Amino acid sequence: MENLIILGAGPAGLTAALYAARANLSPLVITGNSVGGQIATTDVVENFPGFPEPIGGAELAERMKQQAERFGARFEFDEAIEVDFRRHPFRVRTYGEEYEAKAVIVATGATPRRLNVPGEQEFWGRGVSVCATCDGFFFMDKEVVVVGGGDSAFQEGLFLTRYARKVTIIHRRDQFRAQPILQERARNNPKIAFLTNTIVTTILGDGKVRGVRLRNVKTGEEWEFPTDGVFIFIGYEPNTTLFRGQLEMDEAGYIKVNERLHTSVPGVFAAGEVHDRWFRQAITSAGFGAMAAMEAEKFLAELEHRGYPALASAAE
Ligand code: NAP
Repeated sequence: MENLIILGAGPAGLTAALYAARANLSPLVITGNSVGGQIATTDVVENFPGFPEPIGGAELAERMKQQAERFGARFEFDEAIEVDFRRHPFRVRTYGEEYEAKAVIVATGATPRRLNVPGEQEFWGRGVSVCATCDGFFFMDKEVVVVGGGDSAFQEGLFLTRYARKVTIIHRRDQFRAQPILQERARNNPKIAFLTNTIVTTILGDGKVRGVRLRNVKTGEEWEFPTDGVFIFIGYEPNTTLFRGQLEMDEAGYIKVNERLHTSVPGVFAAGEVHDRWFRQAITSAGFGAMAAMEAEKFLAELEHRGYPALASAAE
């Protein structure tokens, strides 16, 4: 029987692990398919307090993991494939094991959204990518397009200029969501061009990407635009399929929590991008992870005294 299982090892899960470990809970972290989550695919992190010099995302995650391990957190490199939160103790099944836990923190994060246009799946990994850090290197001196108008599109577009000779940011509106500082950097970068009010309707190629078919949403004009790569940064879907029918969610699939990160099931907490669609920063997710662990610790202490049925009915 585990005290606390943490699902996910992004900044939220790793920070929850640190706080829970320091509270002597000996938490078990089921990492999912990577340590670090999205931060592990981020080239440099410049806005995590305490790191005046840029730090690589994967390195930051590894340091968080080591810090949690130092206080007794345990890590399983496995994926949760089924949970049962309808009875207590909760059950979590992974590919390799079945666990019971008195409390669970869901920190499974979010996944980059896809365009769902012809050619996207066909050329996935052959010119279509959602990770500039992973794939930018393959576009040395080539031309790429970046789809999206938010921080990710701008940040990753700027990163791609290290390799590509030209980066065209394609956005469906003429207003960008990206922070002004990123917009300014992009505008001042001679390798970056913009196509606004434009959508990608098809990704074209022959074995690998050769171009995209575009449409101007104002004029209806369509044309082919040659490119070697298509980087898609159009937002995220929360990773919550596993919890459907068991935890309350909003219409977009984000887990509903109260201000103390309690989900609809007493003893199950959520932290990070799995519930937070607004902030989505490594530091905010880390903060949510700390909060969830503190609440889990309180829950476990109460459980000792009052037992689950009393706690559950008190929460209703
Ligand atoms: P986002 O802010 O949700 O932006 C997504 C962009 O993709 C929007 O411009 C949106 O257009 C566009 N889009 C969505 N669906 C589309 C579709 N089907 N076809 C074409 N375009 C589509 O996502 P994000 O840029 O990944 O950022 C997510 C969060 O992470 C934000 O809160 C952001 O601040 C944060 N973030 C921060 C940093 C940083 O601080 N350095 C870096 C990366 C991300 P519309 O504008 O028309 O909706």
